Formats: sequence, C-alpha cells, structure tokens
Amino acid sequence: MEKAKAPEGKLIIVSAPSGAGKTTIVKYLLTSGLNLGFSVSATSRQIRPGEVDGKDYFFITPEAFRIKIEEGDLLEWQEVYKGNFYGTLKSQVKFLLDQGKNIIFDVDVVGGLNIKKHFGDRALSVFVSPPSPEELENRLRSRNTDSEETINKRMEKARWELGFAHRFDYILVNNDLETAKKEVFKVVSEFLKL
Ligand code: 5GP
Repeated sequence: MEKAKAPEGKLIIVSAPSGAGKTTIVKYLLTSGLNLGFSVSATSRQIRPGEVDGKDYFFITPEAFRIKIEEGDLLEWQEVYKGNFYGTLKSQVKFLLDQGKNIIFDVDVVGGLNIKKHFGDRALSVFVSPPSPEELENRLRSRNTDSEETINKRMEKARWELGFAHRFDYILVNNDLETAKKEVFKVVSEFLKL
C-alpha cells in the first residue's frame, strides 16, 4: 500500500517583547489569505475577560500542565511569567497540518527559537521589534494600565528579549503599523511560496 504523504504546511513563528505589536501582526496575518491556522497554546494562567477557551488558549490547571509535560504532549514550553506556564501542543500542530494549513505561532522568544530549531528550513522565525527600548517604554506607559513596578519589570524583560533578535530569520521593526503589515505580508507570502 502507498504510504500516506506527510503534510507539507509551513510554519511561521512570531515572537517579540511585550508591547512591540506582535498580537496585531499575528491577527493581521491570519486574515490575509495566507492559509494560516493559529496554533492555540496551552496555558496555566487565568483566563482574561473577553478570552475564549480553545480559541485564545486552552486554559488548564498547573497540575494538568505538569501532566502534559510529563506525557510529552508539548513541542516546547516556557514559564513565560513567574508561575504561568505556556506550551505548544503537538496535537495542535498535527491537527493544523492535517487540515492542509500553514501554522502561525505566537510564542515568547525562547519558545520561538526552539520551534525554529525543531522545524529548520520549514519554519520562518520573525522577531517583531519596537523601534527602540525608549519607544517601547513610551508605548507601555501610554497604555495606562500598568503600575510603575509592572512597567519596570516588563522593560527589564524586554531588554533581555531584544538580545535574542539577531537569532531570528527576520527582524520586523514596528515603527509604523501599516508599513510593518505590508512588510510582513511580503516576507511571509514569499516564504510560503518557496
Ligand atoms: P499572554 O499571557 O499575554 O497571552 O502571553 C504571554 C506571552 O506568552 C506572550 O509573549 C506569548 O507569545 C507567549 N506564549 C503564548 N503561548 C506560548 C507557547 O505555547 N509557548 C511559549 N514559549 N510562549 C507562549
């Protein structure tokens, strides 16, 4: 009997420091006709108002997360924020590839590099960068949602994350959102056509 053909979808990985505009870029790509499916991660953090279980994340308990790690269900996982675990489900990747889709991942920088390592040339890793650390700080402040302590913590983490940018295939500087969207569309669509 002929062997089933392996699914041939490609992988787009998007990582960034918080506040760089990553989510907007990912949402834009998902609606751009690129046959992309979003890899819904598992997380142990609390669900936020407006989020939908199974769509934004699979919200599970820390104990259920620990079992997933032990059973080898995760392609990668990170404790992105203290006490909050996030991980890419192997079953999601298979599900999307079986549907003939390309996959887009919204993951932290370390997770992004791990996924790239796993898939090699089949994946394109994109780092969304703010124009400068100062601009990032301005953006975080203008959200007006975070305390001084939270902003300082996020900035400390962001500086650390910016140090990983050069290890990604492509650095997308998000200075002007419309320009960044056009640029990322070009890079991703060219990669998917390869
Ligand atoms: P948030 O809690 O704001 O939804 O996400 C926090 C961070 O976790 C974001 O940078 C997001 O990209 C990252 N993240 C989400 N899912 C995963 C995952 O499966 N693996 C890793 N390594 N990071 C993730």
